[in-house]
Amino acid sequence: MPKIVIIGSGFGGLTAVRTLRKQGCRDPITLISPRPVLFYYSSLIWVPAGQRTEEDLTIPLDNFFKRHDVKHHQGTVIGLVPNAQQVQTDSLRWTLYQKIAGHRSDLRSL
Ligand SMILES: Cc1cc2nc3c(=O)[nH]c(=O)nc-3n(C[C@H](O)[C@H](O)[C@H](O)COP(=O)(O)OP(=O)(O)OC[C@H]3O[C@@H](n4cnc5c(N)ncnc54)[C@H](O)[C@@H]3O)c2cc1C
Repeated sequence: MPKIVIIGSGFGGLTAVRTLRKQGCRDPITLISPRPVLFYYSSLIWVPAGQRTEEDLTIPLDNFFKRHDVKHHQGTVIGLVPNAQQVQTDSLRWTLYQKIAGHRSDLRSL
C-alpha cells in the first residue's frame, strides 16, 4: 500500500516529489497520472508555428521516477474519500496513510 499518493505529473506533482525527497522523506510515494510524462506547456505556442511537435514537449519521466524512488500508477483519479483517506482511480482504489493537499498533512506545507 502506498504511504503517500501524489496526483498529477505536472510541475505541481513533480515539485511535491522533489520537495518531499529533499526534506528527507523516505516513505513510499505513488504518483498517479494518465501517462508517465511531463507535458511542457510553455512551448505549446511553437506547435502551430511548426517549430515544435507535441512529441518534443512530452518529456518521459521514467528516470525521474527511478531517481526519486517513485512508483507511477497509470490512471485517472475519479474521486476522493477524505474521511477514509482514499483516492479512487479508474482502475483501482488506493488507501492513503497520509492525507493529501488541502488537509492537515506534510504535503500541505509544500
Ligand atoms: C499554453 C500555455 C503556456 C504556458 N506558458 C507558461 C510559461 O511560459 N511560464 C510559466 O511559468 N507557466 C506557463 N504556463 C502555465 C504552466 O504550464 C502551469 O502553471 C503548470 O503547468 C501548472 O502545473 P500543474 O502541475 O499545477 O498542472 P498541470 O501542468 O496541468 O499538470 C496536471 C497533471 O495532473 C494530471 N491530471 C489531471 N487530471 C487528473 C486526474 N483526474 N487524475 C490523475 N491525473 C490527472 C495531468 O495529466 C497532469 O500530469 C503555460 C500554460 C499553458 C497552457
